[in-house]
Amino acid sequence: MSEIRNWVTGFARIGEKRELKKALESYWRGESTFDEVESVSRELKERHWSYQNRAGIDAISVNDFSLYDQTLDMVEILGLVPDRFKDIEDRVERYFAMARGDATHTAMEMTKWFNTNYHYIVPELKSGMEYKIDISKIEDEYRAAKKLGVEPKVNIIGPLTFLANARRVDGPNEDALTLYTQILPAYIALFEKLSSLGSRVVVQVDEPILVTDRVVELSLLLKESYNRLCEAAENLDIYVVTYFNHAKEAVAQLVQTPVKGIGIDFVYGSENIEILDMISASNKVLVAGVVDGRNIWISDIESKLKLLETISSKVSKERLIISTSCSLLHVPYSISYEKRLSDDIKSWLAFGLEKLDELSLITKIFFDGADSLNSKEALSYARNREASQSRRESKLIHDAAVQSRMESIEGLKKSRRSFEERIKIQHEKFAYAPLCTTTIGSFPQTQEVRAVRRDFKNGKISKSEYVDRMKGFIKECVKIQESIGLEVLVHGEFERNDMVEYFGEQLKGVAFSENGWVQSYGSRCVKPPIIYGDVSRPEPMTLFWSTYAQSLTKKPMKGMLTGPVTILNWSFVRDDQPRSKTCFQIALAIRDEVDDLQRAGIKMIQVDEAAFKEGYPLRAADRPAYEKFALESFWITTGVAEDDTQIHTHMCYSDFNDIIDTIEAMDADVISIETARSGNTLLKVFKEHGYKKEIGPGVYDIHSPRIPSVEELQKQILALLEVLPARQLWINPDCGLKTRRWEEVIPSLENMVKAVKKVRASL
Ligand code: GLN
Ligand code: ZN
Repeated sequence: MSEIRNWVTGFARIGEKRELKKALESYWRGESTFDEVESVSRELKERHWSYQNRAGIDAISVNDFSLYDQTLDMVEILGLVPDRFKDIEDRVERYFAMARGDATHTAMEMTKWFNTNYHYIVPELKSGMEYKIDISKIEDEYRAAKKLGVEPKVNIIGPLTFLANARRVDGPNEDALTLYTQILPAYIALFEKLSSLGSRVVVQVDEPILVTDRVVELSLLLKESYNRLCEAAENLDIYVVTYFNHAKEAVAQLVQTPVKGIGIDFVYGSENIEILDMISASNKVLVAGVVDGRNIWISDIESKLKLLETISSKVSKERLIISTSCSLLHVPYSISYEKRLSDDIKSWLAFGLEKLDELSLITKIFFDGADSLNSKEALSYARNREASQSRRESKLIHDAAVQSRMESIEGLKKSRRSFEERIKIQHEKFAYAPLCTTTIGSFPQTQEVRAVRRDFKNGKISKSEYVDRMKGFIKECVKIQESIGLEVLVHGEFERNDMVEYFGEQLKGVAFSENGWVQSYGSRCVKPPIIYGDVSRPEPMTLFWSTYAQSLTKKPMKGMLTGPVTILNWSFVRDDQPRSKTCFQIALAIRDEVDDLQRAGIKMIQVDEAAFKEGYPLRAADRPAYEKFALESFWITTGVAEDDTQIHTHMCYSDFNDIIDTIEAMDADVISIETARSGNTLLKVFKEHGYKKEIGPGVYDIHSPRIPSVEELQKQILALLEVLPARQLWINPDCGLKTRRWEEVIPSLENMVKAVKKVRASL
């Protein structure tokens, strides 16, 4: 096999025009056959291989493609399909039933892939499961790649990551690591089979779990499993690859095993520099992740070359493979589809295909010297230097007004006057009863609502027509809420298609791509905003709609804002300053909105932080720093509120056990959370903690179309009252209602209000 100087950890698969998404969804709707899905898949794989091949990537991943999820594919490869799906004989049907459920099977659980926005399927394991290795998918891809003249490397999710991410379903202890001794033989059998693919087979074993704190309990298993896996077959070149953080503890173990190479991330694990000596003392190949695989900024090639010089002062060049920091699954395809972004902004961006070119340019310069570049490459190199320079200096990025405001930010990083004082004033002002009823913000986004937004965007209707139509939706929504008898109203969020995009589009320093889709799970993609420069708010963003809504009712109208931490966590964030600084800038912008709203008489304001918990770092050691800036950002945003302005926040989850102190410190007057699906056991942590502020635990699950009955809602409220006193509780659904239909929303809310009346009468 030829010498490998570079590779990419993995490539995206959904397709630059989201071809796979479209093929899958059409197949699921029954509008096309599975043959069509297969032919699209084949085309995508071949296209992606040849992109990499043409760009000058030496070893190219196979088995990074998946029809739904790679972890789910591992379940199939290892033959660990849960019993509950075994009645489905057709393989394809069974695969999608595991992923999405069907009429008679609930889907397997899905959860976040480490600290990314990608979600994987959680394997369900139990003791005594019999494995059955099937490498046909890998083999097909391997052969097809070879045929194209590509040098394949086989991507596999490693046994430790697979197990740590799995769930044990046969007993009280859900930790699947307890099944280690049963799963290792399956992996050994898998590796034996892989050895039949060729005379030398390169295997990349992904073990991102090794960059988390779980590495401590894994360290013994780590050595043993890789000793054993390496014994499985002599012709396998095994590279254990980590990403998303440093892998200090793991590398100390891995150098003692016979693996051929170790992959570490130098972008998100800068501490990895400290373990170079350890690698150098071993005879391992170092796969150095230097091109950011999960953010979209160009690499500053000069500084990447410097980094590589530092690395190669310890680990010799012959033992280096240059790589992306992680799979390119987490970035969009190519900026060539972007027609609306300015040339400046585009020159600062590198999506997947552009990253391939960067990697190959870096490889050439590093190994062969800048003199070896042909004229086209030399031009790219010069452009990269220019663009890196312009990123450092451009007025589009560096806004003097924002920076001068940032100088006084310290004084704003504090919470308001004490809650006890505030809440008294607020109760006097609003005089709401205990168990006050409200909703989380959005109401059904009907076809009609979407059409009006779309028509306005496409210039089909005028601004004034758009405003009239939106006002119509708001008016109707307010009327419905009043007739249901809700006590604190909302305007319904009809003008928003997404809680982050709506704000992002109005903020300076934030851009949107046209085609920057990234897979979130299965066929679902998101298009995150791009925060490229100093952020500010040129004009009020929500004031118009909120004040109009308030003018229609005497009841309090809640202003509805998305919080700074959530905007940050759901965006591509600039990497030329600390994330905290960007977050503070967003916080200042939202703070201005809070102030405008309260001055206009909107005295209840909800600042949604749906992604607050999502942003928690992988390592406990990094958490205090995150919590500090996240908290401070929330304070900057809400600190401007007067005592009689009531600050609400909403979070889309319920498990606050490990972050309750931080939630308390956020110091919102009212927090609404998602407890409907988990019962009120999770609410208890608020009680045990002595949490004094007001809480709206969602009383029914908006993710289901089912209409909860008065009796069951009453029961639910009574159960809440066993944990917390009525004065502390608000009653609301567990999230926004935008995905539901009016026919579901109205009776559900009516029942909710009736249930509250009954409970109040019984108090
Ligand atoms: N206010 C938003 C809504 O109701 C909150 C959405 C969310 O938490 N994800 O839609
Ligand atoms: Zn929510």
